[in-house]
Amino acid sequence: MTNNHIQTELLIVGAGPAGATTSLFLTKMGIPHTIVDAAKFPRDKICGDGLDLKVFRVLQHLDPEITVAEVFDNQDFLQSWGARIITPNGRATEFVQPEPPAGEPLRSVLWTAKRLHFDQFLVKKIDSRFANFLPETKVEKIERDGNAWRVQAKNADGEELEINTRLLIGADGDHSVVLRSIGERGIERRHYAGTLRQYWRGVSGMHPKNLIEVYLPKGLPLSYFYIFPLPNGEANVGYGMVSELIAKNKYNLKDLFKKLLYEDPYMAPRFRDAEPLEEPIGWGIPLASRRRKNFGDGYLLVGDAASLVCPTSGEGIGTGMISGYIAAHFAQKALIAKRFDAGIFQNYDREVYRRLEDEISVFQNLMRFQPWRLYDMGINLIAPLPALQKAFKRLHHGWLETAFEKEIEINF
Ligand SMILES: Cc1cc2nc3c(=O)[nH]c(=O)nc-3n(C[C@H](O)[C@H](O)[C@H](O)COP(=O)(O)OP(=O)(O)OC[C@H]3O[C@@H](n4cnc5c(N)ncnc54)[C@H](O)[C@@H]3O)c2cc1C
Repeated sequence: MTNNHIQTELLIVGAGPAGATTSLFLTKMGIPHTIVDAAKFPRDKICGDGLDLKVFRVLQHLDPEITVAEVFDNQDFLQSWGARIITPNGRATEFVQPEPPAGEPLRSVLWTAKRLHFDQFLVKKIDSRFANFLPETKVEKIERDGNAWRVQAKNADGEELEINTRLLIGADGDHSVVLRSIGERGIERRHYAGTLRQYWRGVSGMHPKNLIEVYLPKGLPLSYFYIFPLPNGEANVGYGMVSELIAKNKYNLKDLFKKLLYEDPYMAPRFRDAEPLEEPIGWGIPLASRRRKNFGDGYLLVGDAASLVCPTSGEGIGTGMISGYIAAHFAQKALIAKRFDAGIFQNYDREVYRRLEDEISVFQNLMRFQPWRLYDMGINLIAPLPALQKAFKRLHHGWLETAFEKEIEINF
């Protein structure tokens, strides 16, 4: 029995970074909408907790004061000045951002924050003047009803809710119910990664400049082990591998992870006196390495629901937020035109994917590394090349400028 009805022009399912960002920009444009999430916030999400410059680019567009007033002095956020890459032969190459000239803001290319805190930071900005935010409301069924959607959800008290909407924005992550309702595309193992995360305290050998660390272990291509520093001496430690290789080699990811933590010659010494804060927890990563159609009659998909994780780095928070920004603008266009057919969204995918092209091409080149034994050799040779160091030092300025000063242009 349905007890409650909501009629809304626009419904966002999911209030993770992609859904919350969509809501925040709709509010900025003065567009009323409803946003639901199954979880009670603050909530955790299995992730590496690394925030790249795309995140800051979007926040900057929302309100330039945010980065200065809310991030820089926030003890839940940690500034990271670069990355340490450890190749299969154990050699570490560090990419450290040079000190900014005196008088320039201390802006780093990376930050970390636990998702428990980062997602709460975003969700707290959802504005009730324009957004009807319903946490603890799980969408269970979605049906097309003429030119609209009939969405059935349940709240924490088990009460049923029916939401009718013209435009549905699927922001409900990797296990998206929106995706299922428009025709589940299943997992394509070549474009998907299996991962594990475990929080630790007291990992030794961390860099004083909070470099994030990526280790590419020997004989395990298309996988990476990472240690991302967090505030309070904690670290987010994880391991991920392209699912096609997990299946082909019948790997048990948890066993591999434990071997890396406790037996690997380069990693194990660093964990000897450290303390795990939880059991390893698994989650999937839908990679953007194959273009998909992320729009249709009456709907748009954003973030993990649209498989938008950068296939090489595994970063999906920033791309999720950028897709939310773009989706909000396409929604505005649809509402002005009073049209919700697929035609009005036809350039949505182009606008999303043009920002991922470099990442996709690096991944495709890595996939061409055959036979796989050449993979380790190639990585050992490439990572320490002085040209890469020079490129990092030369390019990081431009990245910061793009993030903090350049418009996110949308060509409709
Ligand atoms: C181990 C690991 C490490 C990673 N490391 C990084 C990293 O360091 N940096 C980075 O940028 N990315 C990283 N990622 C990827 C990143 O976590 C995701 O890309 C990101 O969370 C996508 O955001 P989203 O808003 O699309 O989805 P999510 O964050 O998954 O949010 C989806 C929301 O939808 C809600 N929801 C789900 N189903 C329903 C339903 N039926 N009804 C209502 N609500 C629903 C959920 O409660 C959730 O709040 C990592 C991922 C993994 C697994």
